[in-house]
Amino acid sequence: MNKWIVGNWKMNGMMSSCRDLAAGLVTLEQEKPVRATVVVCPPYPYLGVVALRLMDSSLHLGGQDCSAHEAGAFTGQVSAKMLKDLSCGYVIVGHSERRAQLNENNDLIRQKAQQSLAASLTPIICVGENLEERETGKAIDVVLSQVQQAVPKGKCLIAYEPVWAIGTGKTPNASQIGEIHQMIARQNPGTPILYGGSVKSSNASEILAIPHVHGLLVGGASLDTAEFWKIAEAA
Ligand code: PEP
Repeated sequence: MNKWIVGNWKMNGMMSSCRDLAAGLVTLEQEKPVRATVVVCPPYPYLGVVALRLMDSSLHLGGQDCSAHEAGAFTGQVSAKMLKDLSCGYVIVGHSERRAQLNENNDLIRQKAQQSLAASLTPIICVGENLEERETGKAIDVVLSQVQQAVPKGKCLIAYEPVWAIGTGKTPNASQIGEIHQMIARQNPGTPILYGGSVKSSNASEILAIPHVHGLLVGGASLDTAEFWKIAEAA
């Protein structure tokens, strides 16, 4: 199966640094082409400027979130159709930061994923247990219920991101990642499953070699062009 390498820039950078990051990736792609599908997800205001830089490359653009509604009186929200109009092909939904900071639940996340599919975007639906759930042996059940409730029928990507591994430098071991990915694969046959949480160029190959890992969702390391490209080269 094709592998995906997705960079989530989160709320980082300004217009010039986002433009430079995109330009740097386009140069690297020309110098060192990779097999993987590479997607970058800049902050909303800079999608247009990044889209212009990516135009003549095979790099893909994604949003970091979208509305659960098609259009209307939803001040401050951005629709999946708008992202598509800005040349996005992907959108992250249900990131653990939004689940925790904005109380997003599985129902809302499923609606966002459905809006994405209706707009011909591929949703990247994030799931993952927190530390307490991991330590009390509930990881499998928590992730299973997130997948059952948040993933609609259709062409989606699922990203397994244990909350305790995001931005912490800690990663689960190969058997912990493999166990969750295998369970998701059984539940959603044919759906690519990405791993996310403290991925770096030094651990990318090892994680990509785990069965049922079809790609990586990268936060912090995606802000460093050379480091992110090394991760893409590992796929
Ligand atoms: C993320 O936020 O999706 C993520 C995986 O972050 P990091 O790579 O920084 O842990």
